Amino acid sequence: MSYLTIENQQLHVPNDPIIPFIAGDGIGPEIWEASRKVIDAAVAKAYSGEKQIQWTEILAGEKAFKETGEWLPEATLTAIKTAKVALKGPLTTPIGGGIRSLNVALRQDLDLFACVRPVRYFNGVPSPLKEPEKTNMVIFRENTEDVYAGIEFAKGTAEVNALISLLQEQFQVTKIRFPETSAIGIKPISQEGSQRLIAAAIDYALENGHKTVTLVHKGNIMKFTEGGFKNWGYELAETEYAEKTFTMNQYATIAEKSGKPAADEAYQQAKAAGKLIINDVIADNMLQQILLYPEKYEVIATCNLNGDYLSDALAAQVGGIGIAPGANINYHTGHAIFEATHGTAPDIAGLGKANPCSLLLSAGMMLTYLGWGEAAHLVEQAIEKALTTKQVTADFAHSMTGATEISTAAFGELLVTIINE
Ligand code: NAD
Repeated sequence: MSYLTIENQQLHVPNDPIIPFIAGDGIGPEIWEASRKVIDAAVAKAYSGEKQIQWTEILAGEKAFKETGEWLPEATLTAIKTAKVALKGPLTTPIGGGIRSLNVALRQDLDLFACVRPVRYFNGVPSPLKEPEKTNMVIFRENTEDVYAGIEFAKGTAEVNALISLLQEQFQVTKIRFPETSAIGIKPISQEGSQRLIAAAIDYALENGHKTVTLVHKGNIMKFTEGGFKNWGYELAETEYAEKTFTMNQYATIAEKSGKPAADEAYQQAKAAGKLIINDVIADNMLQQILLYPEKYEVIATCNLNGDYLSDALAAQVGGIGIAPGANINYHTGHAIFEATHGTAPDIAGLGKANPCSLLLSAGMMLTYLGWGEAAHLVEQAIEKALTTKQVTADFAHSMTGATEISTAAFGELLVTIINE
């Protein structure tokens, strides 16, 4: 049993890595129990028993609170720091003043700056779209900045009054419409924070043979924050990735200097040379684009709030949160938490109705991250095959014609059987 290590930005993975898991609250334990068997079966099959994850439970959420009096014990953070990677079920957000969302706390404490959400369609999954198979994207959402920094001041407080006075007196701001009754939030977006996220998206696109990376922003309104995100993204591509990319910013410059045909020519040459095209789309337009022309988009890099909206909209397009995986990653330190993207689903907890696919596909992302892509492939393939049998959990059974509803545990067993076939 040993830990993952990182040397020269390279992850070294032993054959029996210690990987901590947080089962989670609500449906967490059910989906975890089902998923664990599937993951272990896939690893055993892919590597003929040579590799095996050593799972160790760590506590967070309600279970942690009951056992230790703390929602997020320090020991949990230490365990993830040591092990580098963890798998996590959903956690209840404690209600009450002064307690941070546990998910946000984990992301911030480990500086997991990229929230990575692949969105693809699995044949047979109920979807509101006519052609859901055209949706196949990976979202890189910035995870540490933007309005999520939590810098907000309530109406009527000394802080907000001081801030409003400062803005009015020192910065001659006249546009606060109702200064007496305004609350104020602050949106920090930095060059460093934006570029490390965009670099992760570009690296991912290059490694996986994608043709485009789309920067999604609201820079037409927020010129320095979200406009900065776009500009810094183009700047990064044109300097650090100059050999491998062509940006629509370069296109615009050529068009301005030498005309549109010259810009089109440069674009076609870049495409023919296999360069990665970096373009940008304004956030509100992007919500139309993903519905109307999803096939045009492959890798998306975006600020925190846009990413939040986009990932849920995209997840709904391909069958909802029961099947949408996610990861929070710091590509510099190697720390990563792979997690189900849905919540604790208290309405169905304990009833065996939960769909384990979100956690399972997140575990698949983790296996890929470890370099165990063969095992990840077996998990995805088993889900694909299981869906063709139309034996599915309640969420899918309701809207799939001819489907038989089976429990969370039974769905897990079905996947194990398929893997071992
Ligand atoms: P939710 O995701 O728990 O549930 C929304 C709806 O989706 C419910 O009808 C639920 O039954 C269904 N659903 C969710 N996951 C499902 C699955 N795997 N299979 C089948 N159906 C599923 O969202 P909510 O009700 O807004 O939040 C409940 C709790 O979860 C809150 O405490 C919230 O703070 C927390 N939460 C945690 C996370 C996380 O840990 N990452 C994310 C979102 C919400």
